[in-house]
Amino acid sequence: MDKIQSLKGMIDLIADRSNPDDFAESIFRTEDALKNIFVNFGYSEIRTPTLEDADLFKRSVGDSSDIVNKELYSFLDKNEKNITLRPENTAGVIRSVIEKKIDVNTHKFWYLGPMWRYERPQKGRYRQFNQAGIEIIGHPEGVAELEIISMICSINNALNIKNSVIKINHLGNQGTKTNYCNALLEYLKPFSSQLDQLDQSRLEKNPLRILDSQNQNTQKILKDAPTIKDFLSDESLTMLQVLKDTFSKDCSIQIDYGLVRGLDYYTGLVFEVISDELGAQDAYLGGGRYDNLSEQLGGKNIPCIGMAIGIERLALLSNIDIEDKTLVSFIILSSNFEEKAYKIAHDLRTINPEIIIDVQLAEGSLKSKLRKASKNNAKFAIIIGEEEIETNTIIIKPLVEKNSEQTVMDINEISSFFEDIT
Ligand code: AMP
Repeated sequence: MDKIQSLKGMIDLIADRSNPDDFAESIFRTEDALKNIFVNFGYSEIRTPTLEDADLFKRSVGDSSDIVNKELYSFLDKNEKNITLRPENTAGVIRSVIEKKIDVNTHKFWYLGPMWRYERPQKGRYRQFNQAGIEIIGHPEGVAELEIISMICSINNALNIKNSVIKINHLGNQGTKTNYCNALLEYLKPFSSQLDQLDQSRLEKNPLRILDSQNQNTQKILKDAPTIKDFLSDESLTMLQVLKDTFSKDCSIQIDYGLVRGLDYYTGLVFEVISDELGAQDAYLGGGRYDNLSEQLGGKNIPCIGMAIGIERLALLSNIDIEDKTLVSFIILSSNFEEKAYKIAHDLRTINPEIIIDVQLAEGSLKSKLRKASKNNAKFAIIIGEEEIETNTIIIKPLVEKNSEQTVMDINEISSFFEDIT
């Protein structure tokens, strides 16, 4: 029979604890580190469904965005309802805030989970990928901007990320965006026939998105285009400068007036964090202020700012040391006395919960089990065979120092020995 394969652009993450460079292992470690940071900043977790009404994304990200045009995983359910696998989490969070009438003055949320986009898969770009992120709900422009950039610096530093740049820009309010769009449109109209099909459609639907164009000819044309800088208020320009001055000692931060971001709902501060170590897909974090989204989704006016981090890309860059917990490999030599031997492992876990006790479940010779223990960097092996069961003893075999002798220990002595292990 044919084997069933995973879907294109969707990957299995299977961790290998013994290999610090393993991609899945590094993803899970990165997720743990991020959760720690979110919690240490005082954020609460929010977990919304992965499936939403398709209209949520049509209304939130805007008809002109690439996500709605071609990237949504949408289908009819058994009730002929049009539903969508979420391509991002901000819309779901705001839908939930509105629906549950959450008190917006008290909420700073973090989330982590899978997202889906029907994109052409390539290195760093998947059809199912994981994002972690935060949403600061109910705070107008000001200290929330400082907090979000401060958190990005903390993430870069905690995960030991080298060669990354935080790019920031300000899109002003809706009026600024409209005025700037009009100016850009005026400038680009005479060049319209020189633009490729995608940029021509952007010109019609949302000229701001042309600034993101990958087409070199378009980028050449844009060299003399009007810049948003000339349309921004003094307050907005000051905000950018303050963020740069406050954090530039701690991390690399640049003002980039060409940064617009893909989604239509952004106003105010927008940012992206990139690393040239990632190749073509160089952004691993993005976000901005989205004060109009709640109203767009039928809620009241709620000023918000948030960011999303691409875990697969961040994991390629992060350098987190593997947790330095002591590992003990527990080897039972025969299935004849498994229950008795396993009870010892169970008791040891209670005596010292700080230690990892890895009971080897597979059949195999003592030699192969010891080899596996060493490969996993176990500090020592506990071996229980027939003789040990009969004499109420265990064997302790150190694995770190070469040629060190194994010892036979009475079962009654093991508690005090085990309590002292660090
Ligand atoms: P966005 O929601 O488009 O701002 O994306 C935020 C972050 O999610 C990006 O900076 C990427 O790191 C990550 N990301 C977006 N799309 C994909 C994808 N198809 N595969 C992997 N990561 C992605």
